[in-house]
Amino acid sequence: MKTVAIIGAGPAGLMAAEALSQGKLRVDVYDSMPSVGRKFLMAGKSGLNLTHSEPFEQFAARYGSRRQWIEPMLKEFGANELRVWAQGLGIETFVGTSGRVFPANMKASPLLRAWLKRLQNNGVTIHTRHRWIGWNADRSLRIETEQGEISVKADAVILALGGGSWRRLGSDGAWVPWLEQAGVKVEALKSSNCGFDVAWSSRFREKYHGHPLKSIILSFESFRQQGEFVITKHGVEGSLIYACSALVRDAIAARGTTNIQLDLAPNLSREDILKRLSKPRGSKTMASHLEKAVGIKGVKAGLLREFLPKDHFGNIAHLAEALKNLSLPLIAPRPIDEAISSAGGVIFEELDEHLMLKKLPGVFCAGEMLDWEAPTGGYLLTACFASGHMAGQGALKWLGAS
Ligand SMILES: Cc1cc2nc3c(=O)[nH]c(=O)nc-3n(C[C@H](O)[C@H](O)[C@H](O)COP(=O)(O)OP(=O)(O)OC[C@H]3O[C@@H](n4cnc5c(N)ncnc54)[C@H](O)[C@@H]3O)c2cc1C
Repeated sequence: MKTVAIIGAGPAGLMAAEALSQGKLRVDVYDSMPSVGRKFLMAGKSGLNLTHSEPFEQFAARYGSRRQWIEPMLKEFGANELRVWAQGLGIETFVGTSGRVFPANMKASPLLRAWLKRLQNNGVTIHTRHRWIGWNADRSLRIETEQGEISVKADAVILALGGGSWRRLGSDGAWVPWLEQAGVKVEALKSSNCGFDVAWSSRFREKYHGHPLKSIILSFESFRQQGEFVITKHGVEGSLIYACSALVRDAIAARGTTNIQLDLAPNLSREDILKRLSKPRGSKTMASHLEKAVGIKGVKAGLLREFLPKDHFGNIAHLAEALKNLSLPLIAPRPIDEAISSAGGVIFEELDEHLMLKKLPGVFCAGEMLDWEAPTGGYLLTACFASGHMAGQGALKWLGAS
């Protein structure tokens, strides 16, 4: 019987195992952690956003410059197939108000439990606490176990090692040099869907860290979106920041510190603001005038104080301008370990259309370790599942088992 070794038991590796378990093969999955799917379970903590319900065209566009490679995978196993697959495991899904798709109970653990049971019933063997550490000279896999190093020979190998974020969940990016030594080009891993550092004054940081900034419009280059984010001790985090994080990260890498523009009062025009602030304020301070006239208080008022020169804070023309177009300087992306996902990885030019490494025939790659990125919204998991499916099908074909 032919054998397949899958390294990494996250969504991509397990989906490859599912595809391979349909053939007459021995399928072994190895993971370095004591239990599998840790990042997937973490994703379920705040509501597992499995995929998105938007039309295919829009969905595929979320992968930006990597669309040409991700699209064929989505055509085979995209959002609809994923929902049907979850249903097959007894997990109904629903579309939230934003179009995002979640399991009915929002959690990852029931889905993972049902999935692991099915894989086991289909003959897949999972080995936890088995860490791949590269290849031996004869191309067998070097695997570290609690009992010492073993070598594993397999007719096909699928690497689904994840990216470089949240290393405590297993994906530590340690695989990068091992693939590079084998001649595979890997784009450096970097933070994606991440926060950024801001040089807050200590006064602002102490007063406002943890405060959400709601209903604002953030503009940066071609990006313009209404939403919210949070002030942190280091800078800024949250959905609106993540949404523009790839653009901002690349701008910082190219030019150094960059500014995002904030509209702190999207429901009022500049003229409205000027008119309201022009009303006599009597003995009121400018801060209470701002609150009464245009509803700006708390962290929004704090931001104005943080970035406007003192004399501008008393000048309504400057205030109106700052309310509609405040420049917030971002210094650097937060470290990759804190990011929701990572960009970079094995470049697609190294892979054939079944995700097999051209330089290492019989070795396939899938999931976040490939060089793509996407915003949050279910696009990350969908591409991980889709690429796992594609690599699994590819290995079936390669072994003549399909
Ligand atoms: C907090 C958080 C919330 C998220 N929420 C969502 C969400 O709601 N929707 C969404 O679409 N995405 C979400 N994501 C992203 C999503 O979870 C990941 O993109 C996805 O898990 C990546 O899947 P993967 O299989 O490629 O890698 P991983 O899930 O990282 O799995 C890789 C596996 O490989 C193992 N491994 C690594 N190196 C080795 C080695 N040398 N030997 C053996 N095993 C190894 C690891 O232990 C791990 O189990 C979230 C991420 C985070 C951190």
